Amino acid sequence: MSDKSVEKMTFEELSVLLGGDYVGAKVHQEKVGKIFIDSRKASLSTGDVFFAIKGLRNDGHDYISLMHKQGLKLFVVEPSFKNRTFKYPEASFIIVESAKAALQRIAAYRRSMLKCKVVGITGSNGKTIVKEWLSDILSEKHIVTKSPKSFNSQVGVPLSVLELNEQTEIGVFEAGISQAGEMQRLEMIIKPDFGIFTNIGSAHDQGFESRIEKTKEKMKLFSQAKRLVYCLDYSLVHQVALECLGSERLLGWSYTDQDADVYVDDEDGKVVFYPKGESSYEIFHDFLDDASKENLIHSVVLAKYLGMSIDEINLAVKHLPSVDMRLSIKDGINHCCLIDDSYNNDLAGLEVALDFMRQMNQKSKSTLILSDMHQTGLNVQHWRNELLKLIKAKKVDKLIGIGPEITLCKDIFNGEASYFASTDDFLNSEEVLNFDNETILVKGARHFHFERIIKALEKQVHGTRLEVNMESLVHNLNFYKSRLKKDTKLMIMVKAFAYGNGSFEIASLLQYHRVDYLGVAYADEGVALRKHGINIPIMVMNPTEDDFLHLLKYNLEPEIYSFDLLDRYCLYLKKNERQSRIHIKLDTGMHRLGFVEKDLDRLGQILSMQDQVEVQGYFTHLAAADVSDEDEYTVSQLEQFSTWFDHMAEYDIKGDKMKYALNTAGIIRFPEYQFDMVRLGIGLYGIDSTGMCQRDLRLISVLKTRISQIHDLKEGNTIGYSRKGVLAKNSRIATMAIGYADGFCRLFSNGRLQVKAGGKLAPVIGNVCMDMTMIDITGIDDVEVGDEVIIFESADDVNRMAEAAMTIPYEVMTNIGSRVKRVFYAD
Ligand SMILES: *Cc1c(COP(=O)(O)O)cnc(C)c1O
Repeated sequence: MSDKSVEKMTFEELSVLLGGDYVGAKVHQEKVGKIFIDSRKASLSTGDVFFAIKGLRNDGHDYISLMHKQGLKLFVVEPSFKNRTFKYPEASFIIVESAKAALQRIAAYRRSMLKCKVVGITGSNGKTIVKEWLSDILSEKHIVTKSPKSFNSQVGVPLSVLELNEQTEIGVFEAGISQAGEMQRLEMIIKPDFGIFTNIGSAHDQGFESRIEKTKEKMKLFSQAKRLVYCLDYSLVHQVALECLGSERLLGWSYTDQDADVYVDDEDGKVVFYPKGESSYEIFHDFLDDASKENLIHSVVLAKYLGMSIDEINLAVKHLPSVDMRLSIKDGINHCCLIDDSYNNDLAGLEVALDFMRQMNQKSKSTLILSDMHQTGLNVQHWRNELLKLIKAKKVDKLIGIGPEITLCKDIFNGEASYFASTDDFLNSEEVLNFDNETILVKGARHFHFERIIKALEKQVHGTRLEVNMESLVHNLNFYKSRLKKDTKLMIMVKAFAYGNGSFEIASLLQYHRVDYLGVAYADEGVALRKHGINIPIMVMNPTEDDFLHLLKYNLEPEIYSFDLLDRYCLYLKKNERQSRIHIKLDTGMHRLGFVEKDLDRLGQILSMQDQVEVQGYFTHLAAADVSDEDEYTVSQLEQFSTWFDHMAEYDIKGDKMKYALNTAGIIRFPEYQFDMVRLGIGLYGIDSTGMCQRDLRLISVLKTRISQIHDLKEGNTIGYSRKGVLAKNSRIATMAIGYADGFCRLFSNGRLQVKAGGKLAPVIGNVCMDMTMIDITGIDDVEVGDEVIIFESADDVNRMAEAAMTIPYEVMTNIGSRVKRVFYAD
């Protein structure tokens, strides 16, 4: 068995490889299929194996019953699950000490069975870009398998390495670590023959004793590599590389050291390479920033070493995309939703994009426009079969194939489909007019130029837009999760369009990431979420009698804050013979809504005597959790809340009766009062109200507008209404397409705010108008009509706006007008 590749093994044989106990009524002779760890990404074909991995807050074992219901039969589990296996008589289990270690072991085994060359990439910045670019260059000539997205962790790396197959000629994988001791494990899985060490910076410093330690730890990835490419000018990398690997295996390049293995000269539009003892060569490019050039040089030096010719490299570099590799969501024609992924095209990348499409869950019909895939060209038959499997598993309703190879799917795919030989053929066809109310994923290899398809199908976005980065949202979510105790539940406040950022798009993502509760201000907001497929519990803070019908119909849980509201709701429920979950608001000092101490006995009596409502939770709201001068008050609120909660516990009342109090600032400043749940708001969107953790957060949105017109005006002219903007000298004035109706506050008038045009700060001049605002761009080069202007892109910007408008960041965010287009994307 020991020389068998994983796909040819049976599940029983896999158990031998993993050294686990095999438990199963039936012996499964099925061949092992796809291996996965995320229940939401299950493709559920026979032979698929689920590894139940325990994460910090999520435990794969909790999803086994669900997946078993959906038809999955093969599981790798940990000993704690052993006494539950009898519940699944048709399933088989392998019991291992650690499912994560088992996943790593099987990936290492897969790697050891294949003869392809493998490149490993690590460093602080640029790993993902270098991985993408190097793969692009190498795939001019080779069949390359690479990590999907930035799968570079203890779990991401094994999943990436499992993508290697017998066709692969070169594997390119990135590895990232956050703690000492992790790299050795990744090395055993990737076993790179060649490496790139991009650079070293401060990311994850806290997990290491010193930066030298961190560099040494990362260097372990290359302990068996034949050659390492790195930049000599990072002296720490150089020093550690010499010490750990010895000079023989190094291939260092430098901008300054003419004795380096490769000396490079950065000229306008090209880089000239001078390899020691060989003739020089030039690579042409149009990157301007230093980071891109560094990434390019790393990729070129290794590609050249691996035997690519200068011509091949230049050809590939010409087509390298800029750093913008994100998936984006756009509004399409005829109520369609477009997912633009016109960059990356291999099966692993397609799978990521299809999962993203499912997770965004926008329209009920999903369509895939797909080109031939260049790099898998050698075995078309194999590729087609894998492709069809994937399309079926991810429930694509309609396929539009473009290119000669994919057209051959015609004979084997029996869903709704149409095929075109070229992008032009498709664009000239009637098919373009036939889209209606569907989600369309557009994914093509570079030379098919699918950006033209996007242009044809995109609804024109004018002027001002708010770009919301879904990955930043997840980043912030994970940050706050890391601050919670394991059993503390999380309610996310998505009131007021998720603080101005969007509604069901954000809620869908939160649901996907399994938050426990959503909180909205009004019943209407909850109804809108339900209509878009949100099915996790939702609490409504300001219900009125008019909402009762909707609360029941859409299964929304009201906050009950007064006897009057409670009586009316109970009466309504009784009349309609219904029951409902409610949340009781206690007023411990905010003095906005809620029951107070003297109400408690009467409240307890009413609640214990009726059958209509279940008390899901008791909660209170802190008045000054972010103000350290008021900490005594805050603590007294929390202590009082606890006392009242205990008092209510003396009554026999139905329901889960959770206890919860903290908002964003409370989560950070009063962690000992997390109780059963917390309510996260502003922090999720990237703004820290405590001054303690802004560095850990990313503002999730960028507000941008465009320049409509530019005027060169003489000294003494005046700008805008009431002639408030008087020019002190000859000036260049640009008109931007944003005004107070978009939430660009009139208090920003006359220089009270600066925005960014052409990368520089430009002050507002004159009064802000309803739909437009003028800015002074005198002395800023290269600004033209149609150019973007950035209103805010960081928490600092939002704070400055709040100050200029004499308000708080909450108001700046929630004021962004409803006509401002929201665009969602993931990096
Ligand atoms: C808005 C709100 C929150 C969230 O507050 P943040 O400061 O944004 O975290 C929590 N609880 C209640 C009752 C709220 O109204």
